[in-house]
Amino acid sequence: MACFSLATQPSPMAMRRAGLLGRYFASPFRLLCRQISVEPQATVDRLKESGLLRTQGLIGGKWIDAYDGKTIQVQNPATGDVIASVPCMGRNETTNAISSAYNTFSSWSKLTASERSKCLRKWYDLIISHKEDLALLITLEQGKPLKESLGEVSYGAAFIEFFAEEAKRIYGDIIAPTIDDRRLFVLKQPVGVVGAITPWNFPLAMITRKVGPALACGCTVVVKPSEYTPLTALAAAELALQAGIPPGALNVVMGNASDIGDTLLESTQVRKITFTGSTAVGKKLMAGSASTVKKISLELGGNAPCIVFDDADLDVAVKGSLAAKFRNSGQTCVCANRILVQEGIYEKFANAFAKAVQALQVGNGLIEGTVQGPLINEAALEKVETMVQDATAKGADVVTGGKRHSLGMTFYEPTVLGNVNKEMLISRQEVFGPVAPLMRFKTEEEAIQMANDTNAGLAAYIFTTSMPRSWRVSEALEYGLVGVNEGLISTEVAPFGGFKQSGLGREGSKYGMDEYLEIKYVCLGNLKGT
Ligand code: ADP
Repeated sequence: MACFSLATQPSPMAMRRAGLLGRYFASPFRLLCRQISVEPQATVDRLKESGLLRTQGLIGGKWIDAYDGKTIQVQNPATGDVIASVPCMGRNETTNAISSAYNTFSSWSKLTASERSKCLRKWYDLIISHKEDLALLITLEQGKPLKESLGEVSYGAAFIEFFAEEAKRIYGDIIAPTIDDRRLFVLKQPVGVVGAITPWNFPLAMITRKVGPALACGCTVVVKPSEYTPLTALAAAELALQAGIPPGALNVVMGNASDIGDTLLESTQVRKITFTGSTAVGKKLMAGSASTVKKISLELGGNAPCIVFDDADLDVAVKGSLAAKFRNSGQTCVCANRILVQEGIYEKFANAFAKAVQALQVGNGLIEGTVQGPLINEAALEKVETMVQDATAKGADVVTGGKRHSLGMTFYEPTVLGNVNKEMLISRQEVFGPVAPLMRFKTEEEAIQMANDTNAGLAAYIFTTSMPRSWRVSEALEYGLVGVNEGLISTEVAPFGGFKQSGLGREGSKYGMDEYLEIKYVCLGNLKGT
């Protein structure tokens, strides 16, 4: 993303002149956000008063511009309007953010678990009490429908609440000694400074899922959010400060991704990298971590199969596949990427599914009833177009959709492709958009073989009413997450992560804590001495 020099932060007045606030906060907003139930101007005032519209980076508890004054514009993908400008930071700011995290580590890690837990709980409470404002920010900069944004705030906050509780449950071990005047202990200690690099598709939850356990364990963090969606990250950081999380424990830098990434990788003070994003960047970070032998967690791309067996309950399968595919307009790494349908139910499923897809309302996420927002940018839209063209050129049928939406911008019609096969690009790569390719299969063995025939291994879904088949297929799938008769399965209490090239490590749940802890063995000897 390009940096711009000398750009000024637009004032609310300038935003209003640009039609920005008017567009979002005028009458449609009142209708569409009934849950929010506030006057438009009151929402703006509340955002300002709570200090949630932050447009600077956070280093050592101070809000900071890029040292050279360069900025990046944050745009609303639904309209192309500029929402705000944020600093385009690089190596120097990142070095200072790392130092600040490093210096704060010694005090934050020495607090009792209960003290850290209280700060996190307060942060959770503040996120929940600003739920509507945060959701609005997510929809403005990311484009997802407001209802989904509200869901993301609840989901994102839940990681903070969960890890506030887990902070108090870090246990060690006592091991039976092999020599009688010794005692053997295992301690778990925070790994140190964490570099957390996050994507744009969940501007809040991908941060809380990493920062929650890191802070709970006693680590300090430098977050680099996506340059497409930094405002939610900055708002969350503001609330962390308000919650009493000490200056320096959570730092946020954004701008030149590779400079920031390289600075984090090269630093011996950064002991862990945690990343969610593309497989290509994940591999670079993994390679770059080698020179300083950092711990690393990666949550990378998927190629999720969604298998509909002849014995599935049709309504459950349609509803579940729809949720698994079209959530966030298909822009999640757990979105169904291939819908494998057994031949006996293929026609019935394809008809019912296409009907449900045709009913999906596309539009600006702030408009009531919208369930499909825009894609994040033009490149994402072009990727979808290329994949659809490749599939149709190789014989796929367009059951519904199949082109850019008449709304323009980066809107794409919710699409179903029939008779997709493994020669088509869309069956091998993540489309990351609102396109559902249907593929036929005959037997359970064939479905498992097709599902596993990929380097990815994040999420898989199966629809069947047979209990034995549920178990058999779940066990055979080479995936980190399996949904049986359910298309939305992520929760803070369960482990999230992939097999194969979909990543390393797990986020959420008790397993998510281990990623931020070192194991230390202490041998206490000479017990017979004085
Ligand atoms: P996507 O294609 O979904 O945007 P990316 O992997 O490109 O996925 O981006 C995920 C995150 O990784 C973003 O915060 C992005 O800025 C960051 N990123 C991209 N390239 C690099 C890099 N070379 N080093 C560190 N972070 C990077």
